[in-house]
Formats: sequence, structure tokens, C-alpha cells
Amino acid sequence: MNNRTCLQCGKALHGRLDQKFCDAQCRNTHHNQTKRADEQYIAKVNSAIRRNRRILKDLCPEGKAKIRREVLETKGFDYRYFSGIYEAKLKYYLSYDYGFAAIMDNGKEKALIIQKQNYMDDYQINPWVR
Ligand SMILES: [Zn+2]
Repeated sequence: MNNRTCLQCGKALHGRLDQKFCDAQCRNTHHNQTKRADEQYIAKVNSAIRRNRRILKDLCPEGKAKIRREVLETKGFDYRYFSGIYEAKLKYYLSYDYGFAAIMDNGKEKALIIQKQNYMDDYQINPWVR
């Protein structure tokens, strides 16, 4: 007697004995629905930072680049998410190993994109001192 059913949609299963879902879509839907909300939020933030990094990397093939603000935004850059801050003369918002600082260049809003340098890892931040 086969009374095994897909955990997501309830259809009868006819595959291997350890099969739990009828297909990949049901498995993904089930996992997405049962993943806890905080994990989903963390995944969302991580993927936003990854997307930002990808955009910065694509725009900065040679270690440093100046890009108009609109270009970042057109590509879907999301300023709310970053993995770290480095502050010297400028304040850089890092997406892992790439970062940008907001600058004015000939009256235009631009992003100065940089590849992270090792010395930036030594940067100490004191949020209470400005
Ligand atoms: Zn199913």
C-alpha cells in the first residue's frame, strides 16, 4: 500500500522510499515557507549586499572608479545594505571587498568605488565619537 504523499501539495508519491516531495518546486516552496522569518530576513539582507557587491565589482574593473550616482541606482544598488564601513577622508560603505564613497565631482553626485585594501581591516570604529 502506498500512502506516502508530498509534504507540500499532498499528491501521492511514487518514487524512492525517502522521497518527500513530488518535485523540486514543491521542495523549494516547502522550505521557503518553513524557514523561520529571521532566517529569511538574514538571507534577504545577505543577498542585497551580494547584489550591491556585484554592481560595484562590475563598475570597478581596475580597483578604482568614479561613477555617476544614477548609474548605481539604475543597476539596482540598495544603499540600505552594506557589510562594513571604512572612514578616512571619505566614508566608504563596503559590500565585502568592494566599497563606495559618496562624492561631488564637478557639481555632480558620484560614487567613488574602490576595491577593499588589507589595511582597511585594521580600521577601528567608535560609534560614540564623531
Ligand atoms: Zn508536491
